[in-house]
Amino acid sequence: MSLVNRSSLRGIRATSLVRISPFSTSRLVRQFHDTTNKQSTTTVNNVKLTPTPPSIQSNSLSVKAQTEYLKTFDYKELISFFIIGLATLNKPILNLCIKAFPYVPISVIKALVYRIYCGGETINEVQETGEKLSKRGINNMMISLTIEACNGNDNIDPEYIARETSKSVENILIPHTVKMIEESGKSINDIPAGYVALKPTGFAKDAVSALKYFKSDPVQAEKFNDLVAKSASVIQTIYDANKSLAEKYPERVAPFVVGVIDAEKFELQEGVYELQRRLYQQFNKLNEPVTVVGTLQMYLSGSADLLALEEQLAQKNNYRLGLKLVRGAYIHSEKDRATVIHKTKEDTDNNYNKGISYCIDNILNKKDSTIGHLVVASHNGDSLKLASERLYNELTISNPEKNNVCLGQLLGMADSITYDLIKSLNINNVIKYVPWGPPLETKEYLLRRLEENGDAVKNDNGWPLVKASASVLFKRLFGLA
Ligand SMILES: Cc1cc2nc3c(=O)[nH]c(=O)nc-3n(C[C@H](O)[C@H](O)[C@H](O)COP(=O)(O)OP(=O)(O)OC[C@H]3O[C@@H](n4cnc5c(N)ncnc54)[C@H](O)[C@@H]3O)c2cc1C
Repeated sequence: MSLVNRSSLRGIRATSLVRISPFSTSRLVRQFHDTTNKQSTTTVNNVKLTPTPPSIQSNSLSVKAQTEYLKTFDYKELISFFIIGLATLNKPILNLCIKAFPYVPISVIKALVYRIYCGGETINEVQETGEKLSKRGINNMMISLTIEACNGNDNIDPEYIARETSKSVENILIPHTVKMIEESGKSINDIPAGYVALKPTGFAKDAVSALKYFKSDPVQAEKFNDLVAKSASVIQTIYDANKSLAEKYPERVAPFVVGVIDAEKFELQEGVYELQRRLYQQFNKLNEPVTVVGTLQMYLSGSADLLALEEQLAQKNNYRLGLKLVRGAYIHSEKDRATVIHKTKEDTDNNYNKGISYCIDNILNKKDSTIGHLVVASHNGDSLKLASERLYNELTISNPEKNNVCLGQLLGMADSITYDLIKSLNINNVIKYVPWGPPLETKEYLLRRLEENGDAVKNDNGWPLVKASASVLFKRLFGLA
């Protein structure tokens, strides 16, 4: 049965909280923070925490900083960066590459750029990627078996995806997390959790119809239940692993492994929210670390109200929330953009920053916080700096709940910022989203990365990347570095 049946929604809407977004004005921020938290009365724009960590390199990296982060990559990766630099030299060249991309043979893609954005084709290759990342100071991953199915491509076998995803938890995430705990030399609460991302459209044939019509069509409701059951079978593996690892390492505060439900296009999101709620209810028990994290897209104008609703539902139904906050990836394809997405980038940025501040403050300072875990999934230097400042300051030094917040970037994206977070700001909880799977299946994902790189042409791609990767390659070849 739907967790959000009409009567429960009516009951909740009767309260003022749902109608009022938790952070739409500074007055309302206070309303949600009238707990023990001293920082709670500050608004995002007035963050006054000391000491302030050194500034993160956000959108204007110096060539020197570029060169520094590139030194952590091997020859083949540097050559791939050089090629990406060439492909993003300017908009016309990039547009040409994007148009030509579908016709480029998969063997060429694999040889040239696949390794930068994808963790490998097999479980063994993803394990090696985890090793490589740990050498760069990135001690865990969010792995995602990437078989795209959201645009009507139903070339998927949900049984296979559920089975392989569970296998990836057992054979990649758990051993990698344990290895990091045992061998990194860091304290147990300084190793981030390992995450596995679940794309809801991968867990049923024609999942789009199930997610859209599960409330009105009994056939789709049946299919939706099956989608929930398949997702739950993966999360059960994670829940069991957390239970047994907690016995071995009782001093750990955060979960060891976490299942993350990815957000999709707006028209599918009602179904995705329902999926998240059912999984929260089943696995995110009170007084236990969170096992399931759902995603909120903060570019949605209704996202602050939605967060308030999720908190209400969690409190009413006695479960905890795990959240991944993203800005949102579907802005270009959103049909009802004018009505569902914030009017300006600035509005999205404000909403995102208020959202992460609110969640972090709750996790760090509120006893028995409903929000138990947060992934700040972003490449935006300002948002990451804000999150870092709230997490690492003299008030939070000995607060182990910090481990319940992690900062995530996509593999191959914003590597300079990831580097800065780890090397300049000494942030422990940084992970990379690592898609993996057959190159043919990841082609759509790769195309999206190319397009996103286009958005960043002016920043650290294009000519600066060509120069920096060539310089590192040259010095390494001639033994000058
Ligand atoms: C680890 C990880 C997991 C992710 N998982 C998901 C997921 O499950 N679902 C999903 O949808 N996305 C996901 N994303 C992608 C994410 O939603 C963003 O598209 C991407 O990270 C770029 O946003 P940013 O925060 O890095 O910041 P920026 O690059 O500063 O912001 C770009 C974003 O701002 C918003 N924006 C841009 N212009 C406007 C405008 N005119 N008006 C309003 N808003 C605007 C858009 O959301 C755009 O993507 C994930 C990203 C990461 C790093």
